[in-house]
Parts: sequence; structure tokens; C-alpha cells
Amino acid sequence: MTDRRKPYEAPGEGAPDPVDLDSELRLSWESVRGKLKSEFGDKTFNSWLRPVELVGATPSGLALGVPTRFMRDWVRAHYLSRIQDLWKAELGVLPEIELKVELRGAGKTCAPETAGEPAAPSASATPVASDRPRPHQLDTTSRQMDLTAPLDPRFTFDSFVVGKSNELAHAAAHRVASETKVQFNPLFLYGGVGLGKTHLMHAIAWEIRRRHPQRKVIYMSAEKFMYQFIRALRFKDTMSFKDEFRSVDVLMIDDVQFIAHKDATQEEFFHTFNALVDHNRQVVISADRSPSDLDGIEERIRSRLGWGLVADIHPTDYELRLGILQSKREQLGDIEAPDEVIEFLARRISSNVRELEGYLIRIGAFASLTSTPISLEMAKNILKDIIVEKTKEVTVENIQKTVANHFQLKTAELKSAQRLKTLVQPRQIAMYICRKLTSASYPEI
Ligand code: ADP
Ligand code: MG
Repeated sequence: MTDRRKPYEAPGEGAPDPVDLDSELRLSWESVRGKLKSEFGDKTFNSWLRPVELVGATPSGLALGVPTRFMRDWVRAHYLSRIQDLWKAELGVLPEIELKVELRGAGKTCAPETAGEPAAPSASATPVASDRPRPHQLDTTSRQMDLTAPLDPRFTFDSFVVGKSNELAHAAAHRVASETKVQFNPLFLYGGVGLGKTHLMHAIAWEIRRRHPQRKVIYMSAEKFMYQFIRALRFKDTMSFKDEFRSVDVLMIDDVQFIAHKDATQEEFFHTFNALVDHNRQVVISADRSPSDLDGIEERIRSRLGWGLVADIHPTDYELRLGILQSKREQLGDIEAPDEVIEFLARRISSNVRELEGYLIRIGAFASLTSTPISLEMAKNILKDIIVEKTKEVTVENIQKTVANHFQLKTAELKSAQRLKTLVQPRQIAMYICRKLTSASYPEI
């Protein structure tokens, strides 16, 4: 049976065109893929197995293409033997499997391994943009700079306005920055977009630099953490990656929700986290929701994240918004907005602080460009569209009413548990709109 089929070609001789493959073998491969998907689950399958392509096959041999070397190593280490078994179950022969790195679509095999040849560090290449491995010895200083993200000079404790909604988070952040003794670990800050999480983390870093310059602080987004980790894996450099992270006094990871569903990164994050906490080093984490609401993050990690102090930042109230605007007006200097304008903004804009600032700047720019003093009239005019939108209160009740009206239903029908087809779609639409336009969560809706 074997000799009936063309053996797959060796790398370098050009990958066989997938359409040349026997449809029978292709079907077998599809069946193997289906089983992999149900065994490992959608998440793993989509991240690691979906990109694996069949590029050549006989019953006794498979050539599989993956887009990157990192992926090739990962698939080889974790899934290869299972693929072999499943293929054997399909065709009765234990196949030899060759995994090769293929540029998707280009139909070309990648250049051979470059890990052995140290790339000359080029003066012009920025460390982050460079995706070639660099020799170890040269690495340490540039690497350190790589690791901590640049800090925004505006984000200090001085410029952070404290109100009821953020006082716990602020106090905890301040404590972490001033004391060297670890009191709660981790400090977990969470709250909606634009409410000052990043500001507080930068403030911690600035304050530590000022008070305890010898302490080593790393601040970075969870996204960058993942990027660094993957890079280390690709260049087989995980040892120095681990060393760098585990030698810090304070590690701050911003927007940790980013690593949801990223299993390998979570794993590494968890090890790093545990190593630091075990050695009594301070860890500060931020997220857009509480530890227990972090979907897509493993249960053991979620629960561990909640062990220290969890401080949430609530949406701003009127007084805090007023305070923030006054402080921004002072900082910006050239925006001479009268109090009534500031009060107007604080009253009308209840979304996040970033937007609040944005509007103040917009008004300032308009005044400066037209060489007219800022007035309430002007502010109202500039923000007309937005304010109209905002004043029409968007509540769950309003949305229910509007959607029910549109589909000529009663609100009660929309809210009922009946699963009639005529009700299900309007109900889903209403839920979708509520989720998009109100702060209600799905369970509440
Ligand atoms: P998050 O990280 O929570 O999304 P940021 O920290 O980036 O939010 O804050 C968004 C903007 O709002 C920044 O310019 C920040 O300086 C400002 N901001 C947020 N809260 C405050 C506050 N309490 N006092 C002063 N500025 C604030
Ligand atoms: Mg942020």
C-alpha cells in the first residue's frame, strides 16, 4: 500500500503542494484534527494546533508545517506523540512525523536555524524591534532597559487626585511605594478603563526611584510580559528571562487580563509570581476586573491573585471629577477655563477620567485657535453632540422599552423566560445593546 503513494519530500526540495495530497489522507488528517480539538479543547487547539498544516503525507509519514520555530518546538514537545497515535488509529501505521517551519502562503521553508550564529548587535536596531538573538554578555544592560517600560512623567502621586472612589487604591499604592517591608502581596488594583490604574503604578515606580533608588523595579504591561517571554522561548533564553524577573524587588504588571486564554504565558507568569512572593518581593498587579472575574485565567492563579490586598477603583463621582479638572487646569497652565465651565464638564461627563481630560483639552485648543476666551457657551457648543447623547439616559430599562417597541413586543415578553423564536432574537439584541451601552454585566442583564 505504501509504495502506491509518493513519499513526502524532504525539506529543502520544496514542499509538495497540498492539493496533490490524496484526498483520503487529507480526510484522515481532518479526522485527526477533529480529535485533537475535542481532546485539547478549543482554546489550546486554536492557539497551538489549528496553525499546524498538513504539507505532505503518506500513510507512514507526515510532513506538518507550522508558522514559527517557537511553535514547532512547542508542538513537538507537547502534541507530537498524540498526533502520531491518532494517525495510527486512523491508518494502522505509526507514522514518522516531520515538523517544519513554513511561511504560510509563501509555500517556502524557512531558512535553517540561526540560533547558533550570534547576530552582530547593530547600533541602529532598537532592542525591542530586533528579533534576532543577541549574545548573552552584551545583553544584560539593554535587557534591563527592555524590561521596564518607560514611565510617564505626568503620572506621579502629586498629580493624582484622591476621592472616595480611589482612596483605598491610592493609600495602598502609596504604602507600597514608601515602605520597603512587604505588607500585602500582591497589591491588586482593579477598575474600569481610564480610572487611574496605570497612573498609580507609574506613581509607585517614580516614588520608589526617588526614595529607594537602589531597589530594582520592573513595570510592564502583561502584553509586554508575554512578548518578552515568547521571545525568550524562541531564543532559548528562558534562563536569563527568569533571572531578570526573579531578581527584582518590585514587579508591577499592568492589565493582567491580557494573559487570559494565553496558557503558556499564564504558566510562566504564575511561576514568576510565586517565586517573587516566596522571596518576599513586592508584586503589584492591575486588571480591569477583580481576580475572581478574570475569565480565561486559571482558577489557581485567580485565587492566588486575591491573597494580598485587592483594591478596586470605582467610577468617579462629581466631586472627584471637579477636583481632577481643577488640577488639570492648573497643570496645563494655559487653559483658562472659568469655574462654571469646569463644573459643567464635571456634571455632564461621567465616563472615565481620560475622556474628561480630553474634553478640557479640546475646549482649550478651540479657545486658543480662535483666540477667544473660554466660556460656558463655547463649552456647550463644542460638546453639543456628546452632551445630547449623554443626557439621554441610557439605562437597561430604556433599552428594553426601545427594543420591545421596535419589535412590537411588550417589555414583559422580552423579559420573560419564554424561548419563542420571535422573542429570542430581540432579547439577544437588547442584551447586546445593554452590554455595550450600560455598565451592567451579563449576569445582571
Ligand atoms: P487606566 O490605566 O485605569 O485605564 P490611566 O491610569 O491611564 O487609567 O488614567 C487615564 C488618565 O486619567 C490619565 O491621564 C491619568 O493621569 C488620569 N487620571 C485618572 N485618575 C486620575 C486621578 N485620580 N487624578 C488625576 N488624574 C487621573
Ligand atoms: Mg492602564
